[in-house]
Amino acid sequence: VKIEVDYAKCQGLGICEGLAPDVFEVDENGDLILLMDQIDARSQVDVEAAVECCPMEALRLIQA
Ligand code: SF4
Repeated sequence: VKIEVDYAKCQGLGICEGLAPDVFEVDENGDLILLMDQIDARSQVDVEAAVECCPMEALRLIQA
């Protein structure tokens, strides 16, 4: 699966980074950086939690 980020919605709150630090990073400007494009099986549970917990609903998983 792949992650789609709606950067217009993302507020750089970093909740996703807290839940899946291998995948998400919020830089010092509050911009979200994806550390991987294709999500491997090991990270998928964490990523799903991040998608659910993003208060701005800025994250979406798409079947690649
Ligand atoms: S949790 Fe949502 S709003 Fe916060 S940095 Fe991640 S994608 Fe952006």
